Amino acid sequence: MDSSRYFDHAATTPLDSRVLEEMLPYLREDFGNANSIHSFGARADAGVARARERVAELIGADDPSQIVFTSGATEANNWVISAFDTGAVSPFEHSAVREPAIRRGFEVLPNVGLELGSPQREAGLISVMSVNNEIGSRWNAAGLASPGTLIHSDMTQQVGKLPIVLDGIDFASMSAHKLYGPKGIGALYFASQPPEIFMAGGEQEHGWRAGTLNVPGIVGFGAAAAIARDEMDGDLLHAENLRGIVLEALEHLPDWRINGGNEASPYILSISFLGLQGETLVVEADQAGYAISAGAACSSRSTEPSHVLTALKIGPEWLQGTVRISFGRSNTPDSARELARTLLRISQKLRRM
Ligand code: PMP
Repeated sequence: MDSSRYFDHAATTPLDSRVLEEMLPYLREDFGNANSIHSFGARADAGVARARERVAELIGADDPSQIVFTSGATEANNWVISAFDTGAVSPFEHSAVREPAIRRGFEVLPNVGLELGSPQREAGLISVMSVNNEIGSRWNAAGLASPGTLIHSDMTQQVGKLPIVLDGIDFASMSAHKLYGPKGIGALYFASQPPEIFMAGGEQEHGWRAGTLNVPGIVGFGAAAAIARDEMDGDLLHAENLRGIVLEALEHLPDWRINGGNEASPYILSISFLGLQGETLVVEADQAGYAISAGAACSSRSTEPSHVLTALKIGPEWLQGTVRISFGRSNTPDSARELARTLLRISQKLRRM
């Protein structure tokens, strides 16, 4: 498989080989339980401490102790939401916020296009993602703060990709595999105190999140965070360039639109092709060797239209014809140009049929 043709970095990114190198000792000789008091434990614990510092530095947290490692953003989101009896979430949230919020009877915030309204009911928590995983649109959750309300932001698509400002954010969620780290590891950031315990058990993570620490995963997350911090500016320029190449190549094709607005993250390009089926485009692109997606990977097996595009009131004639192209380090200008030409050819062929 040619990874330059992988345009689904919002679903997951490949593990950076430098990250793997840093993880390997913790899968071999430094295998200790980070909570053991002997030297094996101490070595594992030192790896965890360094990783915590690196993640804290990447997101601009004041102190590494504000980072609690979890199994991923899904767990971090569920943890925060489970701690509140009342709350409100944006209509654009990933299912890892939306589903637990709906189960707890949270309100879905009103919206006009990408603009969010205020909660209509009492809300102990407001949860608004910083970058949308389907369309790349951006929000600053802190702007919705009001007295007595805490603010959570799912920053999974921002961490390691775009600079982060934590002012006014009480809780933030993230996952390592979106920034070239391993899968199954993530974190919750808290400003002053963590939410009520969600995973009770041992004393790991101060007892806030029990369970033997995933040391290789945590070390990998730390390594990925350090690389992302060093390479963020270059990565961003690369994504902007690739996005520009795709858009330019599609210029003369009629009847397509960009979703996500002008301020969208350059890493995520959501395009709707009038009258076409997103799934068909994805399958045809795959046959031509390109990996793109019709929306969120987590709901790609569902036949329901995307709740994100539905909330934007995108017309039904556009809704089904949506694809997501998400850029990353493995892509090249040539592969981006070829992808756009492939989409052009496929859409013309499908429209003739
Ligand atoms: N939130 C957002 C915005 C995401 O894009 C994802 C991953 N698709 C998640 C949460 C869930 O991350 P994970 O599956 O790693 O827990």
